[in-house]
Amino acid sequence: MVSELLNPWIRDLVPYSSARSEFSGSAGVFLDANESWTGRSCRYPDPLCRELRLRIESVMGLPFDSTAIGNGSDEIIDMLIRMFCSPGHDRIMIERPTYGTYSVFASVSGVSVIDVPLTPSLDLDTQSMLSAIEKEKPKIVFICSPNNPTGRIYPLSVIRKIAEVNKGMTVVDEAYADFSEGFASAVSLIAENERVAVLRTLSKAYAAAGARIGILVSSRAVQEAFMRAKPPYNVSGPDQEAAMEALSDIEGVRSRIAETIARRKEFSAYLSGLPFVREVLPSEANFILMRVTDARSLYDYLVGKGIIVRLRSSEPLLENTIRITIGSESEMTALKEALDVLEG
Ligand code: PMP
Repeated sequence: MVSELLNPWIRDLVPYSSARSEFSGSAGVFLDANESWTGRSCRYPDPLCRELRLRIESVMGLPFDSTAIGNGSDEIIDMLIRMFCSPGHDRIMIERPTYGTYSVFASVSGVSVIDVPLTPSLDLDTQSMLSAIEKEKPKIVFICSPNNPTGRIYPLSVIRKIAEVNKGMTVVDEAYADFSEGFASAVSLIAENERVAVLRTLSKAYAAAGARIGILVSSRAVQEAFMRAKPPYNVSGPDQEAAMEALSDIEGVRSRIAETIARRKEFSAYLSGLPFVREVLPSEANFILMRVTDARSLYDYLVGKGIIVRLRSSEPLLENTIRITIGSESEMTALKEALDVLEG
């Protein structure tokens, strides 16, 4: 039961009741929230992001009743850790390497992190993960699929198995799902297992990173706890509007995704032919991870040319790697021109 997993102070929390959440219906005079009566952003935004969630349901197929909105998925990651993990006592589990904020937010909350290394071929080490879950009993297992920075997706059957064995929450971060062809989302697991939650974001395929819109897809019990614990107006009015706009041009979104995938394939092939590139990892995301002969010097050289990529060499299993985001055609051309002049 999710309620038994929640920190007791969250389970028993009497939430702040904002002026905007106490009233529903139509009215013309709002004198309930001590706002100013003039100015473009003078009113508090909808704490429940209702219009936006309706749009998300129609465009992304994520049911209204299963979604809540965070100030980026980063806020949701932070909130989930604070909702479920008791400082100095509970643990989260992550695969390593993966997205960095799970362990940073855990540390901010005084929650320790169990790392389970990926296999040498950068797949999830399912057996090690299952035995670590049974031994360590983490409160949350974070799985990132497609994984950042490897670009690898994990089979749904493996995620289902982990979520069954794990008696805590299993949170599947699908930030890059839209760039994976034929992706099987863990959203389908929520109906059978209320301890599964999925994170989506408008920061990647929907081109709205500046608006900070993360989506928590989960069972009702998790939704209710999140709504109780989150800051009342966590998503600003202008951000909700920007998100509505990002979701209005679905044809544009689809064609940008197709273009990004095509460019990823083309650029991967190009990189594979370069003398100093040892390996280009297959990616299902909007970035490519490559292994080179000397990542630090390549990184410094590119910085000198005004091109910033992401050095990932300090991560376990990722010696001499660089992660490259798939950008616009002209950005990729600039990168190609800088790489073309290099020799092995
Ligand atoms: N999850 C993953 C795997 C990411 O790579 C990122 C951002 N790089 C995020 C979540 C954060 O997304 P948001 O902009 O929604 O906070």
